[in-house]
Amino acid sequence: MEEEKLIEKIYSTQTIEKDELEYILKSDDQDFIQSLFHKARQVGDKIYGNKIYIRGLIEFSNICKNDCLYCGIRKSNTSAQRYRLTEEEIMYCVNEGYELGYRTFVLQGGEDMYYTDDMYCHILQQIKSAHPDCAVTLSIGERTRESYQRYHEAGADRFLLRHETADQVHYESLHPENMSFEHRMNCLHDLKDIGYQVGCGFMVGSPNQTIDTLYQDLMFIKEFQPHMVGIGPFIPASGTPFENEKAGTLNDTLKLLSIIRLIHPHVLLPATTALGTIHPRGREMGILAGANVVMPNLSPVGVRKMYSLYDNKICTGEESAQCIRCMDRRMNHIGYEIVKDRGDYKK
Ligand code: SF4
Repeated sequence: MEEEKLIEKIYSTQTIEKDELEYILKSDDQDFIQSLFHKARQVGDKIYGNKIYIRGLIEFSNICKNDCLYCGIRKSNTSAQRYRLTEEEIMYCVNEGYELGYRTFVLQGGEDMYYTDDMYCHILQQIKSAHPDCAVTLSIGERTRESYQRYHEAGADRFLLRHETADQVHYESLHPENMSFEHRMNCLHDLKDIGYQVGCGFMVGSPNQTIDTLYQDLMFIKEFQPHMVGIGPFIPASGTPFENEKAGTLNDTLKLLSIIRLIHPHVLLPATTALGTIHPRGREMGILAGANVVMPNLSPVGVRKMYSLYDNKICTGEESAQCIRCMDRRMNHIGYEIVKDRGDYKK
């Protein structure tokens, strides 16, 4: 069957042509799609087994100086209720997470200049001296190379910075004029150069996205060779210029997860909360399409609803202990198990 050959070709060459991407995204042949997921799953299993890595996500501030058009916490969204966690509150979340078994913490926030380099370094040093066996990931947007260097020296191991789109014109349609595609790309290269495990990523179905722009995203991943790739469906956020746009689909996101696993087999690939938001079993489906990471929430329950990058986000009411138990059950149900270690990239 031609379609089986196509999957084998992508698998064996670890690349894809634009017309093949188009064919896959347009296909609604369930046998073909299931074969694609199955192949991606096999490739992931060969490297990471049936182990799913967990990351404890701490959303420490929803204040941001930027105005990305798609983002629910953009500075112009006056309906967003704002908060910041103190250093003590962040450490409380980390310590609680450690007791629950987390060995990776992701500190995620808007580009909130209240947190100076000294503050970040102090937080990182505190985490590392309390828990030297843990990895820390930063997801705090664009800063200078010097700042990135300081955070790395203070203990940050990984950095997530979604590239959002590898097409400059598309990038400019998603961001205000004062944000630069070139700067975003330079940040990613600086991070890699400094020695971080780096994650890039994009939204599936964002406004103005086309097969061409998606193809550029995949080619960027091939060329940049990130350690992680975070993709999730675009979900419109109220109070933003894109509030009435159409959401990205579950199917496209799952297909792209599989393709990314096939063209960049060792990548750490989260089944994101956004995927769980558009379908109750979205994260399980993401794992079965090739993902191998989940990121349960460790933020204090009192602030979780306020970190709304998009509408109707799930897991905003549960305590951290409930979240990890829930995730454990979900993974067991599909034959996988969460592992309590740093979960590093395997070469
Ligand atoms: S996407 Fe990130 S940088 Fe852009 S407005 Fe939202 S939090 Fe700020």
